Amino acid sequence: MENKDINLFDYTLDLIKDVEGDEILKKILHIFAMILYQNFDEKTLSNFNNNVKTLKMKIVDSCENAKNAIAYYNNETNEIAISKHIQPYDIFHELFHMASRKRNGNNIYSGLEFITLDDLGNMGNTLTEGYTDKMTKKYIPEYNPQYIYEMLISNALDKIIGEKNMEKIYLTGNTDLLYNILAKYLGDKDFCRFMYFTDSLKTSVIVPPIFYNNTDDQKRIKNTMRKVYELLLKLFANIYKQDDNFEEKYDDFKIYLDSLSTDLDAIIATINFSLKDFSITYKKDKDKGVI
Ligand SMILES: [Zn+2]
Repeated sequence: MENKDINLFDYTLDLIKDVEGDEILKKILHIFAMILYQNFDEKTLSNFNNNVKTLKMKIVDSCENAKNAIAYYNNETNEIAISKHIQPYDIFHELFHMASRKRNGNNIYSGLEFITLDDLGNMGNTLTEGYTDKMTKKYIPEYNPQYIYEMLISNALDKIIGEKNMEKIYLTGNTDLLYNILAKYLGDKDFCRFMYFTDSLKTSVIVPPIFYNNTDDQKRIKNTMRKVYELLLKLFANIYKQDDNFEEKYDDFKIYLDSLSTDLDAIIATINFSLKDFSITYKKDKDKGVI
């Protein structure tokens, strides 16, 4: 091991020393901290650095705070609760929520989501769940994503705004910047439509899976995704319209969006299949009181 690696090992171990939690969870957190420091600079990791100082992690029989959820990060209290029945890699999804959360009084910026505790309002939940899964899958390849439709939107945003920029916006909780970019290039009305359509998706395959096994809901998802793609195309056009080779770029992006629609069809086909098994497990677990 090189010196640099030993330093990174010790440095990140020191960062997490005050975290309250089970030893195994702290080991996973340590791996997570090393992955972050291997890929991002200190400034981008300021939320992670602040949050680990007061983070609490616990293993529970079920997560009473989140209906049907089996792993949960509480944005308000900075606590992670993990059911003992989940896949270990799912913990990394919750850790990314923690690493991308910034609290400023009663306002919480969670990755790409804005939450206000004053009136319990929030927007951008779909964007943040999709992006959290994108990050988790990218940096922890063994992870099995749950928000697959939402990830398609994350991939398109990476393509338009730039992956490096998007990852930085996400980790620093710079929701304001993203929303400003969207509002500037879509206009206020279409920005609101974009947020409304994306937030109405709420398609996580685990919450609650049974509903996504019916064709009406699949139709609803496809229609909403079509509207989202139209807005993404408009966003792309307005950002790049001054470019010399705009036509070419626009056509490429259109082809890319079409490929996402094909992905969506493929995803719906798999979900239909795997949800059958999942519904059985879900029902069994529910009967056992696990979820
Ligand atoms: Zn999540």
